[in-house]
Amino acid sequence: MKTSSDTYKSTCCYCGVGCGVVVTKENNGRLSLEGDKEHPSSKGMLCSKGMNLHYTVMDQSDRLLYPQMRLNRSMPLQRVTWDEALDRTAAVFKTLIKKFGPDSVAFYVSGQCLTEEYYLVNKLIKGFIGSNNIDTNSRLCMSSAVVGYKLSLGEDCVPVCYDDIEEADVFYVTGANPAWCHPILWRRMEAHKAANPQVKIICVDPRKTDTARSSDLYLGIVPGTDIVLNNAIGRILIEKNYINQDFIEKHTDGFSLFQEKVFERTIDEAAEICGIDAKDIYQAAEWIGGSKGFLSLWTMGLNQSVIGVNKNLSLINLHLITGKIGTPGNGPFSLTGQPNAMGGRETGGLANILPAHRDVTNAIHREEMETFWDSPVKIAHKPGFTATEMFEALADDRLKAIWIINTNPLVSMPDINMAEKALKNSRFVVVQDVSNLADTVHFADVVLPAAAWLEKEGTMTNAERRITYLPKALEAPGEALPDSEIIWKFAQKMGFTDAFNYKNTSEVYDEYVKITANTNVDVSGVSYDLLKNKRSVQWPLAAKKLTNNETIATSEEPDIILSSAVGTKRLFTDHNFYTPNKRAQIFAIADENTSEPTDENFPLVLTTGRIRDQWHTMTKTGRVTKLKQHIPQPFLQIHPKDAEARNITEGKLVVVKGRRGEVRVKAQLSEDVRQGLCFLPMHWGKILGSNLGRANNLTNSMVDPRSKEPDFKFSAVEVSLYKKP
Ligand code: SF4
Repeated sequence: MKTSSDTYKSTCCYCGVGCGVVVTKENNGRLSLEGDKEHPSSKGMLCSKGMNLHYTVMDQSDRLLYPQMRLNRSMPLQRVTWDEALDRTAAVFKTLIKKFGPDSVAFYVSGQCLTEEYYLVNKLIKGFIGSNNIDTNSRLCMSSAVVGYKLSLGEDCVPVCYDDIEEADVFYVTGANPAWCHPILWRRMEAHKAANPQVKIICVDPRKTDTARSSDLYLGIVPGTDIVLNNAIGRILIEKNYINQDFIEKHTDGFSLFQEKVFERTIDEAAEICGIDAKDIYQAAEWIGGSKGFLSLWTMGLNQSVIGVNKNLSLINLHLITGKIGTPGNGPFSLTGQPNAMGGRETGGLANILPAHRDVTNAIHREEMETFWDSPVKIAHKPGFTATEMFEALADDRLKAIWIINTNPLVSMPDINMAEKALKNSRFVVVQDVSNLADTVHFADVVLPAAAWLEKEGTMTNAERRITYLPKALEAPGEALPDSEIIWKFAQKMGFTDAFNYKNTSEVYDEYVKITANTNVDVSGVSYDLLKNKRSVQWPLAAKKLTNNETIATSEEPDIILSSAVGTKRLFTDHNFYTPNKRAQIFAIADENTSEPTDENFPLVLTTGRIRDQWHTMTKTGRVTKLKQHIPQPFLQIHPKDAEARNITEGKLVVVKGRRGEVRVKAQLSEDVRQGLCFLPMHWGKILGSNLGRANNLTNSMVDPRSKEPDFKFSAVEVSLYKKP
């Protein structure tokens, strides 16, 4: 939102916290940036990444400036006009679709795309091309949480808000390191704890992170044993009568089977499997059971697993058996790693969903969208290829063409050598991106330069369902265009002239919000003007739904209600869940881990993750000098005893070998990882590092069967000292 001639209010485009920023264009043409004190999510705070965000648009040295293409991959990319690039792409897509059908093409997009961009790509491929082959890199980070929420609460919805942090007295942080990865939420937790010493933080993580170090109780479990731990806590909550029988009877199904399941193991057995003291499990359960506000927070440690959905369900169970949901300070809170992972889901940006959380397998939902879009084709009834499936399908030629938007799969996908081979062998690759630091650019037949943050307008939804408007403050360099404009121009080249005849993104947003009417993500009636005026709103926000909402005015006039509303802070305050019978579902969860097995050749478990000052594949943060100073090189964290057994000493170059590839990095000996576990950061790729620093040379493409999210946290490896050949 523009506040004066040179000052703009926007939102940080890194993690899902969605902090508010104020950007000022200085007289010397440079930008300055500070936290927005009026932003309800961040209240003026920014982390190291957010504070340096403006450098990513001031430095134009690595920007893609004009469209490029080549007729075959042995030729260099050559500058062409937008018409030439889009005409050729449309011609190739039409030919492939005619010859092999609509499922021969796919779009792979990103949680960094704005809501309008997500909506347009979905509309194009699902409603006009007739394929559901669109998926997003968000599949790699939160799809297990999506399925967990849907199964237990009936909807992909985060039921809590950030203000619940200040209402909670027990935080159960599991498989997450907010001190590094969601720092502003962590600061709010720390400040709340400092003011209220009775507040307890429990941290569950096989790796002793900064979050773990600051917690009151650290449970350093064996990797993959999260469900054993959660079930054991559930058993103690029952035994000690911390459960809420009234809530269970009135608002849930499945408690009896759950009870049977968690009583299959004693607490001592669970403690042994998890590799922790039984007394610590009792302590965690006592704190959770006795709390007024129990907030659980999690990210990839639960989600990125072959049993990711079950891990999510086992955690949500703890809220449902205690009734600690829908009241201040209580609820399961999945944190997101990308700025618009949630907005992408709202518009249907996964291979199995349609806008407003409709389902591609639901005939009524498909018909609603076909009618709304006036589709010339029937929407496909089966889900399209998910992220890893897309690359597998490219590799064996089931998929002929892929269009990659604002993501860098040649660093971020599991089993990266397979993904690289797939791109190399594919028939046609389009890469739409901001920077030539994306490794995928070098495999592209057509490269389309995209406008960056501040160079285009649109909306995003952060992890507490909060929608903000991001203004355009700068002209994009060269011939770069906003992603929305690229998509609607391409759709017109495909012949869908009327349906994609937009003048601006405001028209796209107005169209999208209409189709949310009468759904659980209802934002019908919200507009750019309302968002500029209110700074942000939290869905659902529809006039008809606001009368019982705790956060809004109580006027009977819908227009007045809408204009005075800021949305819904907290879901399920009436304990009516979104399941067909309005009851939340408690699941009896088996606790076996089915990850890649270790053996004598690969006896160690590798886990991957983030470092404090880098984000994703570093195409933005890797360009900021200040951020590179924190940790400049990839490294392998390994326990001193595991190192000693292999004659490895601090700082030595080691080879990490797995069943799919290898990595060479320096060793960092640390008791922060359990014996038998080692850790590699996930940020470095070939361009901003080397082939031998890519953590995903080692990971595998095993996925959770329901969420299709890969198992980044558990790969079997061996480590040895590097010896010159
Ligand atoms: Fe940006 Fe996340 Fe840091 Fe906030 S916490 S400034 S959204 S990276």
